[in-house]
Amino acid sequence: MGKYLFNAHSHIFDFKCVPNHMSDKWYLKWIGINKIVTSKFSRVLAGKYSALAGENKISRVLNFVAIGMNSTQEEIFNILQKNYANLGDARFVVLPMDMEYMGGGPIGKPYRQQLYDLMRLRVQYPDKMIPFLGIHPDRFKDRNETLRFVQEYIGKGKAFAGIKLYPATGYYPDDERLADMYAFAEEHGLPITTHCTHGPTHYLGKPPALNKRNIDNRKFFHPLYYRMDGDTIVPNELFVHSRKPGDFQDNWTNPYIFRETVLKKHPRLKVNFAHFGGAGRMAQYHKDGCTDTNNWYGIIRRMLEDEVHYPNVYADISYTLTKKSVAGLLAADINDERINRRILFGTDYYVVSVEQYEEAIKTGFFAELNDIVMLTKIAHDNVNTFLTSSFFKPA
Ligand SMILES: [Zn+2]
Repeated sequence: MGKYLFNAHSHIFDFKCVPNHMSDKWYLKWIGINKIVTSKFSRVLAGKYSALAGENKISRVLNFVAIGMNSTQEEIFNILQKNYANLGDARFVVLPMDMEYMGGGPIGKPYRQQLYDLMRLRVQYPDKMIPFLGIHPDRFKDRNETLRFVQEYIGKGKAFAGIKLYPATGYYPDDERLADMYAFAEEHGLPITTHCTHGPTHYLGKPPALNKRNIDNRKFFHPLYYRMDGDTIVPNELFVHSRKPGDFQDNWTNPYIFRETVLKKHPRLKVNFAHFGGAGRMAQYHKDGCTDTNNWYGIIRRMLEDEVHYPNVYADISYTLTKKSVAGLLAADINDERINRRILFGTDYYVVSVEQYEEAIKTGFFAELNDIVMLTKIAHDNVNTFLTSSFFKPA
């Protein structure tokens, strides 16, 4: 395509970076068990079976497991690169995750080690691999400590080019400890990618009940979700009451909170709402006549349309692009001139491989879009603008 292609959303962390109780999904639980008995045997078996079995959910899950059980992030990165070999020069934004604070139990490889792996890989693949820095505020005691950590990894000549947030792992985006980080990011045009869909990876502890005793617990309860009527807490329609972490995660992820707090304070902040709110919400929004102001996809979409108030808001289509049910809607968005300068191509490798193989996603999506101008826009031009900061410009 003349210009090289970016995949703006990929993961290469191996299973040692993942807590033992990663999720309530059966196959992720299975990984937890598997890790205890991690052996070359189970890796080889998973690889062999997935290669034999072809196109069905079980073999895709095994393929996912076989990738994750590879012993190094480099091996996983190389599998990713191979999938794009026929495109010539392809480059990848790699998103690590700090999974030590999501209530999922112990992890095999400390987070700093996960980052160190990426620093080393950045030296080896200086243009091909563009790592972001995953941040979980619970790692830090205050805003200064968070900023110091960020500045240790991001700056002139440093390895990391942006920040990855994952509120579903148990925090609100306006957590006090992130305040200085946002000011720093806004000042330097640093890109931030924040997870924004309802998925299997989330905080795994049990949230407390919303009552007067717990109301000041800002990890779980946000003032934008309730008002006080005298002594009574009156939650609004946006608050998800369930104490099941799989449901409760939506309180943290809702892009309304991000917009009303972080972006109100830092309107020029460069933020990518990953997954565009998710395929389910995207389909629902259109089904409801595109008027639901609380629909996540709708919230993001209206920010993309409003360049005056949200000049640097983006959405990536990773994971969501595997859902056949929204293929037409996505194509329409990519062709919509009001918003397409802010849409980023990404796949969510290799988390997404339980849905579809990387090769099939890439080939299928490009064939579906069938428009080289639009492809260049979302897979090169837009990502290029998103990534460019005072510290980093893609070569
Ligand atoms: Zn992801």
